[in-house]
Amino acid sequence: MDIDGFRGRLITAGDADYDTARAVWNGAVDRHPRIVARCGGTADAAAAVRFAREHDLEIAVRGGGHNVAGTAVCDDGIVIDLSDMRAVWVDPAGRTAQVSGGALWGDVDHETQAYGLATTGGIVGHTGVGGLTLGGGIGFLMRKHGLAVDNLLAAEVVTADGSIVRASADEHPELFWALRGGGGNFGVVTSFRFALHPVGPTVLAGPVFWAAEDTTDVLRFYRSFAAEAPDELGSVVRLGTVPPLPVVPGELHGRPAVAVVCCYAGAVEDGERAVRALRRFGTPLVDLLAPTPYAAFQGALDDTVPHGWHYYWKAAGLDGLSDAAIAVIADHAYRAGSPLSYASLFHLGGAVARVPREATAYAGRDVAHHIVIDAVWLPGESGERAAPETEWARRFLHALRPHSAEGVYVNFLDSDDGADRVRQAYGGQVHRRLGEVKAKYDPDNAFHHNKNILPG
Ligand code: FAD
Repeated sequence: MDIDGFRGRLITAGDADYDTARAVWNGAVDRHPRIVARCGGTADAAAAVRFAREHDLEIAVRGGGHNVAGTAVCDDGIVIDLSDMRAVWVDPAGRTAQVSGGALWGDVDHETQAYGLATTGGIVGHTGVGGLTLGGGIGFLMRKHGLAVDNLLAAEVVTADGSIVRASADEHPELFWALRGGGGNFGVVTSFRFALHPVGPTVLAGPVFWAAEDTTDVLRFYRSFAAEAPDELGSVVRLGTVPPLPVVPGELHGRPAVAVVCCYAGAVEDGERAVRALRRFGTPLVDLLAPTPYAAFQGALDDTVPHGWHYYWKAAGLDGLSDAAIAVIADHAYRAGSPLSYASLFHLGGAVARVPREATAYAGRDVAHHIVIDAVWLPGESGERAAPETEWARRFLHALRPHSAEGVYVNFLDSDDGADRVRQAYGGQVHRRLGEVKAKYDPDNAFHHNKNILPG
């Protein structure tokens, strides 16, 4: 097997590492591509796209491999795999970072923090920059510094005909607009340039846990705490059993609990003031909020969601935390059968909501919270767990529906979320405009193994 102009590695079914190469983060995904084309650089990605088009092969593009629907791998076709392209170059004077298309957020945080800088990335270090950014990119820094896409300055893209273009505010501006939220629909992004900001290196960060029985009271308190929070304060609520992390006292491991996880992107003393009321609320089981190196905090959840476990997600946006929404969350969050299942509530607002709606293809600027319901079980438990866990997630979402917002975050959609949910994620106007950009840059819909936008 040979691809003209390709210098990276081609992995096929006969190779010893074929099964590793086709595996993605979600162990429930089991697809068999004909070729995994592990690219060494942009030229390889362009050669792989041209080859795929000439041979009419199904194309999947792999960044970090984290998408829960497993869109990074396809059956029978070619995986354009960027996982060897993880380099990050920081320009500390210009406060920018050039990030290769297959880098993970842990790579970005590691390099940028060497200069006391950071940009908004995901809350788990082994998530890919590629997919996360192209869908919008929410994280602890977003209320202060905007979404990942709000920090994107330029992208190098291999388009559907195999040509290499640069997209920015001045070059291919419509493509640049579409890349900032429209997912992997428009080409293979081999390099991203991000704006950076001074963050840390030490930040006030970590979780405060309360018993599951206190969930309603904690969420009602959190509703006003979050609404009044300064932009520097990013927070995520986690509802489920306490993960067995070394920093958490052993007697709490496995106990149902609600945690508010905070990260204050400013001076630690100011952060102490911002979280004071939270720490004093009710009777926490444990308070682990402490001055922490930002990069270490960003990796703190990595072991709670390892590669290879089986995952199934349901998600919704929430305009706010009404009493009714809180009642549903408190009622359903702890009913999962698997102790590994949980739900997370991301608080948006701040800088995210101040960017004009039409500036990027990310459509959910006015959503206050995104909830993601994560059904999780071990590979060996599929027979007994898969059906009840997925049913738990579906019922939870169904109960939340009357209280949820119009929009949903495209990066939280799973494989059974079809075209209607993708349209919902964008809303009619953005969805139509994405279709027009798609018609220009990928008229044959070569890049369709994703949350697909049809050429319009
Ligand atoms: P992949 O599976 O590699 O890619 C997903 C899709 O993105 C691909 O099918 C392709 O269409 C496209 N793609 C990826 N890279 C490229 C590229 N370089 N060029 C063109 N297309 C590309 N999201 C958040 O916003 N914030 C979070 O904090 C967050 N936390 C998460 C934590 C975990 C544990 C997981 C599993 C996911 C999380 N997500 C979060 C969701 C995440 O944004 C999506 O799963 C996203 O798809 C991951 O990107 P990836 O590159 O790792 O995925």
